[in-house]
Amino acid sequence: MKIAFCGAASGVTGSCHMISTDRHKILLDCGQFQGGAAMEAMNRVPFPFDPEEIECVVVSHAHIDHIGRLPLLVKQGFQGPIYCTDATSDLMDVMLKDSAHIHEQEAEWKARKARRAGREPEEPLYTTDDALAALELRRPVRYDTLVEINDQMKIVFNDAGHILGSAVIELWTEEGGETKKLVFSGDLGMNGRPILNDPVTIHKADVVVMETTYGNRLHEQNAASIRRLLDIVVETTQRGGNVVIPSFAVGRTQELIFELNRIYDGDSPYKDLLRNVQVFVDSPMAVQATEIFKNNAQDYDEEMREFILQGDHPLDFKNLHFTMTSDESKLINTDPRPKIIISASGMCEAGRIRHHLKHNLFDPRSSVVFVGYQAEGTLGRTLIEGAREVKLFGDTIAVKAQIHNLEGFSGHADRDGLYAWLSGFEREPGEIFLVHGEPDAKRDFAAYVKAHKGWNCIVVNGFGEYDLSGGTGFSPRQSRPGIAAEEPVRRTAERPVQDAAERPAEQRPSVEAVGSASERAVEEFVSENERGDLLERLRGTREVLDSVLRNLETAAGDGMSVEKLAEIKNLTASLEMDVLNLGSAVTEEDRPKTEPEEGGER
Ligand SMILES: [Zn+2]
Ligand SMILES: [Zn+2]
Repeated sequence: MKIAFCGAASGVTGSCHMISTDRHKILLDCGQFQGGAAMEAMNRVPFPFDPEEIECVVVSHAHIDHIGRLPLLVKQGFQGPIYCTDATSDLMDVMLKDSAHIHEQEAEWKARKARRAGREPEEPLYTTDDALAALELRRPVRYDTLVEINDQMKIVFNDAGHILGSAVIELWTEEGGETKKLVFSGDLGMNGRPILNDPVTIHKADVVVMETTYGNRLHEQNAASIRRLLDIVVETTQRGGNVVIPSFAVGRTQELIFELNRIYDGDSPYKDLLRNVQVFVDSPMAVQATEIFKNNAQDYDEEMREFILQGDHPLDFKNLHFTMTSDESKLINTDPRPKIIISASGMCEAGRIRHHLKHNLFDPRSSVVFVGYQAEGTLGRTLIEGAREVKLFGDTIAVKAQIHNLEGFSGHADRDGLYAWLSGFEREPGEIFLVHGEPDAKRDFAAYVKAHKGWNCIVVNGFGEYDLSGGTGFSPRQSRPGIAAEEPVRRTAERPVQDAAERPAEQRPSVEAVGSASERAVEEFVSENERGDLLERLRGTREVLDSVLRNLETAAGDGMSVEKLAEIKNLTASLEMDVLNLGSAVTEEDRPKTEPEEGGER
């Protein structure tokens, strides 16, 4: 068995891993890269495999960073079944249609710009038709059911407690008389989260592939986060402001509704204080997802079932309003009542939340409360990191509202949760691959596991393939050249994204082009001195890089071990990523993402 990491290898998005034997090739997840122009451009980079050769996809859960490239895979020739749980199948319907719609809108917006600039417009990444074709291939399966996906592979889905339908996947492969068991964590939930069951722990594995989103962070207790949220709501509404909560439409939004229901329909001391506070869920997708949650009661935890047996639907209360149309959405801004506005997208990259931010960020009475992970490069991350002003729909908006970040709501296990899950294995698995985390999260988690259990983890940093047949222990036996880390899979990821797919790798924007763009950007905003300093540092970095390169070239002669080579490859991959980000930091324009310019339809 071989495993090739084709996404969520350098960051948290784009989850996609190829498992192959001598006769079969399958994918675990086929997610979209998200967060900033450089990441999104990676969606246009050709897959490091032939989509026609993939027999099936096994999907861990319905978040876009795990399923968002499925329509693209289908567009490029994949025709096999897509295995997932029942609830994932339902949610996928909403998610992929929405995603296709976003790509169509974005392409339309860019096409208008391109035409004005006399350029050829770019095609959307995929269309609604591609999404519909992918949805046709869904093969829903129950949890805890053994499914033979081909004559060498069997799978079982186990509840991962992350979002409705999320799964930890067990995969057995048989090849040359040898059976191997791989466990893919997907995204792991926190123990004790509302609505969902705790993640299932697995006791045996030869190979583990696990997420590390919060590999070096501990979450505040859920109860403490709820109290902080309620205090923020009380203070904000008492001073006449609104509480804006950017939230993932699927999962987080339903948890918030559940927690608020407990206040509004329970006997909490906050009940009186919130009596007049209205709660708007302003996201058509969140509304649809909430319906799907209501229809998949088989996946609820005990507490949730209890509520229903007592006759209180936990996703419904009097002050709760769902808004579908854009007219209803606009009315929220003129509604004088104290209110909480929950809207998507969760990282503020698209959707109606951007309108609510525009109407509230400049108001010192209002609060913006983040309740989920904010990937690097997103507007959400910028706000958390203390930006004083941001650009929305081409306008500069001052950030005067209070910005809060409550990690206790996270749908992801924190370091202790991840460690507890990994500790469920009775013996040290032959290989533990860490994926789906920023580099320091993976590194720190690996060090923590080593220190506390003595187990070795392999920090995956960049695309690469590992041969897992025979023996045990870490041995990145040589990769297939097409996917190996030295192959510049990302090379075409730079701007302009319009033609990344067809553009030959060597036509990269020159260092000079990126350099002069940064100089122009720098001139507009900072003093001569600061500008000089920055350019000095950039030049200094180039010198360091040059000397490192000279050393490496000398060292790369003979006698370099496979491990050393792998280490250098990994570091090179993350360096490439950083350089890409550096380039996009000064060339990215503020763009309205999914919405047309102000005044248009929303
Ligand atoms: Zn997820
Ligand atoms: Zn994820």
